[in-house]
Amino acid sequence: MRMKEIAIGEIAIPLKTPFKTALRTVDRMRDLIVRIRLESGETGYGEAPPTAVITGETLSSISAAIREYLAPALRGMTFDRPGEVWERMDRVLAKNTSAKAAVDIAVHDAWARAMGKPLFRLLNPEGSGKAELETDLTISLNDAETMARDAEKAVRDGFRILKVKVGRGGNEDVERVRRVRRAAGADAVLRIDANQGWSPEEAVRTIRMMEDAGLDIELVEQPVSCHNFRGMQYVTARVETPILADESVFSPEDAERLIEERGADLINIKLMKTGGIYPAVKICRMAEKAGIGCMMGCMLESAVSVSAGVHLAAAEPIIRCCDLDGPSLCAENPYTGGPAYEGARIRIPETPGIGIDRVPVSFETL
Ligand code: MG
Repeated sequence: MRMKEIAIGEIAIPLKTPFKTALRTVDRMRDLIVRIRLESGETGYGEAPPTAVITGETLSSISAAIREYLAPALRGMTFDRPGEVWERMDRVLAKNTSAKAAVDIAVHDAWARAMGKPLFRLLNPEGSGKAELETDLTISLNDAETMARDAEKAVRDGFRILKVKVGRGGNEDVERVRRVRRAAGADAVLRIDANQGWSPEEAVRTIRMMEDAGLDIELVEQPVSCHNFRGMQYVTARVETPILADESVFSPEDAERLIEERGADLINIKLMKTGGIYPAVKICRMAEKAGIGCMMGCMLESAVSVSAGVHLAAAEPIIRCCDLDGPSLCAENPYTGGPAYEGARIRIPETPGIGIDRVPVSFETL
């Protein structure tokens, strides 16, 4: 197939409630959308959010990278598999994983449409695939009372798994989780995300307090600074609750090091960290070999790029849990087609590609 045209545009979607973590507060999504057209007529869509606090990338840096480096390198390129496009992107752009992810997702979408199959079926042709996924819902970091109220509402709305944001003071965090557990009930699955907010000693102390209090935490995500691999090892070795690496693992190379050094029990794969589906699949193969389970996560993204994560999670058995609540946090869904987000349930249709067919954005062809 041959790449005929690359275009970019922006989409803005208000959130139901402000999204708050130990790192930031956001009240609306403003993301970059990529559209790719193949010479054979198929269109593919990709998306990237500016998550400067995690990836270092802004809307301007993502669009400049695509405009000045990726589009000139890819225009007119012929390819059989999306990985060939990714390798060429990697030769002209060392970092900016968000820009690469947006283009890689659009390429996968167009490729699967050209093949006439849903993306998840092409990503794992021998597997049966999952027709449905269950996502958690994020409970933003607030005072304990607000978080308890949000948790109660989430359970009422049909979410069985809650991802509770913590990371602002160990003792207060124990109180937050205690109140959330009481509000959510004994049947709710609680996973917590400290977003690098604790020191290694504080993490061990806080997690042990939660263990001793019987708060029944499924896993703890990124307890300490992303650069502190030794701190991740220190915590992983000293608590019973499984530790999930998020900000510490972007690339397959990071995953390799983490697995070798036992820096966590689990890996959170996000397309904006890996640079798209192609490197994410490599992490799945490594994790499978090491027997390390993966979570499919997302940044604050809308249904275009989250749906790409949905297809990957549906294709890969090693992806055992999903944090794909981006579309559930949006006050409206501007798109048509693609996976259906119905509360905690995500259903994957058998339509070709990622499935999204209306993207109301004014595009600029590059
Ligand atoms: Mg996280």
